[in-house]
Amino acid sequence: MQSPIATERLHATTDHLIRPDLSLDDLQGSWIHPRLVQSVDPVKGRQLRASRPVRKGELLLVDRPFALIPVVDSPEQSDDIRCSNSACHRPVARTAERVSCSDRCSAHVVWCNSSCREADKSRHVFECTWLKKYATSIRSKWGEYDFGMLWLIVRILATRQMEGQQKLISPHGERSSQSNLHSFKTGWGAIQSFCGSQETWSHSQVRYWTTLAKKYLGSYSSLPHGMDTNDVVTLICQEEANSFGLYPRETGIFPIPDPPVDRGQQFGAAVYPTAAIANHSCRPNIIHKPDNQGRMVFVASMDIAAGEECCISYFDLTTNVDLKPRRDHLQTSFRFVCKCDRCVSEGPPAEEVQWDEFPSMGEV
Ligand SMILES: [Zn+2]
Ligand SMILES: [Zn+2]
Ligand SMILES: [Zn+2]
Repeated sequence: MQSPIATERLHATTDHLIRPDLSLDDLQGSWIHPRLVQSVDPVKGRQLRASRPVRKGELLLVDRPFALIPVVDSPEQSDDIRCSNSACHRPVARTAERVSCSDRCSAHVVWCNSSCREADKSRHVFECTWLKKYATSIRSKWGEYDFGMLWLIVRILATRQMEGQQKLISPHGERSSQSNLHSFKTGWGAIQSFCGSQETWSHSQVRYWTTLAKKYLGSYSSLPHGMDTNDVVTLICQEEANSFGLYPRETGIFPIPDPPVDRGQQFGAAVYPTAAIANHSCRPNIIHKPDNQGRMVFVASMDIAAGEECCISYFDLTTNVDLKPRRDHLQTSFRFVCKCDRCVSEGPPAEEVQWDEFPSMGEV
């Protein structure tokens, strides 16, 4: 028998939770709830907090990607592939209007129509030669994951380049009276303040990325970014610690619905200036999902008290459900030991705590 609570959980999706007075379509660019603030914890580093109480269902963040890449197996057959125009990023169906690059750089580069291609022209020029030169060989030699990582870095560098050239209006159309956007860093400045450094990762991992950076991301005429290899490797370290996989359904619904609903097949990867600040909890108070423009959307999945940290789940909670596989997964993939309340409450009783509580026993 399904209880009414279980039914409610199944419906606890961003689409159902968002308050009717705030429509995503009305919000241009990025938007941050006035009560969502950032602070620094001595152990965890940067974090998001509620400055005053937030009700379940309130929209907390709409964050436009700094860079986004599609992750689909057969781009020619896919209706899930996203438009390359960074001001659009909508899913591009296989219609007569859909256009590819006239230089045939990559089957993964498509636009909704010729207007989107035109609007994206100067940004795409930055990556076009690089894709043409390396996409096929990186894929066959190093695999899809490394290709995606390198392409995302190239797109980050492309946006940085555009920012440098334009320095015009903020790309984030905000409704200033209702948004807290002004108290957060935006653009390249936000990416540079991401956590993650060469010290975060193992020596062998950093060596591996250095090899890739030297081989494929040097600042040559095909990729004129002007950064040295060390800075590019640091950027990779930050990107790998902060990028989001994009999935069609919500991540972080807790308690896990019965039957569980997974977040679906990944269709992209992206870096977000503000969403990246959120820390992980295995009992998150935020659920997150990209919208149809590739913007990351955070919604409060429960009431949040004043001062409370606002957390997302870094992985699909319908997988790695038990404590041990969950902690192992977080440690392997995200390089931290999770100490969220759920992990602590499900943790082994006593022994760890006792050692901490009686540190001087051996000296007695
Ligand atoms: Zn488009
Ligand atoms: Zn091209
Ligand atoms: Zn945890």
